[in-house]
Amino acid sequence: MKTTERRVKQNPAPTDELPYQPELIETKWQRRWAERHTNEPDLDGAARPFYNLMMFPYPSAEGLHVGNMFAFTGSDVYGRFKRLQGYDVFEPIGYDAFGIHSENYAIKVGINPAQLIPQNIANFRRQLTSIGGMFDWRHELSTTDPAYYKWTQWLFLQLLKAGKAYKKAAAVNWCPKDQTVLANEQVIDGRCERCGSVVDSSCRQSNMPPMLVSWRRKFAMLRGISSAGLTPSLIA
Ligand SMILES: [Zn+2]
Repeated sequence: MKTTERRVKQNPAPTDELPYQPELIETKWQRRWAERHTNEPDLDGAARPFYNLMMFPYPSAEGLHVGNMFAFTGSDVYGRFKRLQGYDVFEPIGYDAFGIHSENYAIKVGINPAQLIPQNIANFRRQLTSIGGMFDWRHELSTTDPAYYKWTQWLFLQLLKAGKAYKKAAAVNWCPKDQTVLANEQVIDGRCERCGSVVDSSCRQSNMPPMLVSWRRKFAMLRGISSAGLTPSLIA
């Protein structure tokens, strides 16, 4: 047998006879990454830290949708690229379950969100694991976990104390059926995207929670926080 023929036989080109089998190939590499702690950078001692944060999915239904995959894949590829450049990439993952979609889904299926959301998260975790994102599962979080949101509440109180948040009546998009405020993107031709009810956009709520000052004043606000005695690391 000639050398060339031998080489081809040892390294056959992909053909229909060797179909891609994700359940074998991807499971193998995901297991290898877990064994090597590939996705677990040394957060305290990283020489070249790189924080690769992506939007956390909303576990407002039973599972992830294609849009989640669309958003995560690009970010994950970028994180891998940075790691190949020698960075210690930290790619956290979590679940952001507060909001209208989670509330509506809980109402629809008639299950208390405190019970429903953990169920959904369990499936989200299974799916996120199977896609092989380079998530650092040591630091998985949920924004509905009191251990997490006590800090967002604490941070907000610092803003309030510093005079950087205020209470004000304002025009909102109010859905009379869902009994909630909608974002502009959730109003389609004057109707609630979820239930189709005509949205009352003239409604003025007097009991709105304090609102952060506008994004246009964000940097001025951050300077104000510094002068209020908070360290920069808390607002970075
Ligand atoms: Zn509605």
